[in-house]
Amino acid sequence: MPIAIYPGSFDPITKGHLDVLETGSKIFGKVIITVSNNINKNSFLTVEERVNLIKESVKHLENVEVDTFEGLTVNYAKKRNATILLRGLRAVSDFEYEMQLSQTNSELSPEIKTVFLITKPEYNFISSSTVKEILLNNGDIAKFVPEPVNQYLISKFKG
Ligand code: ADP
Repeated sequence: MPIAIYPGSFDPITKGHLDVLETGSKIFGKVIITVSNNINKNSFLTVEERVNLIKESVKHLENVEVDTFEGLTVNYAKKRNATILLRGLRAVSDFEYEMQLSQTNSELSPEIKTVFLITKPEYNFISSSTVKEILLNNGDIAKFVPEPVNQYLISKFKG
């Protein structure tokens, strides 16, 4: 059973991310969800906070591991013996960027394949950036994020 990497910012993890991960965990032997430690990207939460929130949200998934990485995703995948890069697709707007990323990764490492999954329609429109926007404007984010994320963000930003 192949090992898959699910890389991303997860700033924070949403129900859309979790749905992709749950489906991936049924398809692959193991899924490593890994937070990119990209110093060039302005992040909302620290890498440690993001990892902790993912860990709290994936307790029900036995074959899922949580990690962080720096540098090229394909190099990290090789280090972890993974042959699949798992990514989610929302709208057509994701497609161009994701296709470019997957073709670049294929050029760098042809043996590593990208697999795209689509979420349930009710999670399809969710993004980490809209969650931040709603939270910072005192809206309710419970519908969009796993419960541990909801609790943490309420206590951090409204407490
Ligand atoms: P990145 O900064 O690498 O794009 P994200 O945390 O924003 O990281 O997203 C990680 C992956 O999850 C990407 O492939 C993204 O398209 C996908 N994704 C994000 N939100 C959703 C969603 N609601 N449904 C399906 N896929 C999603």
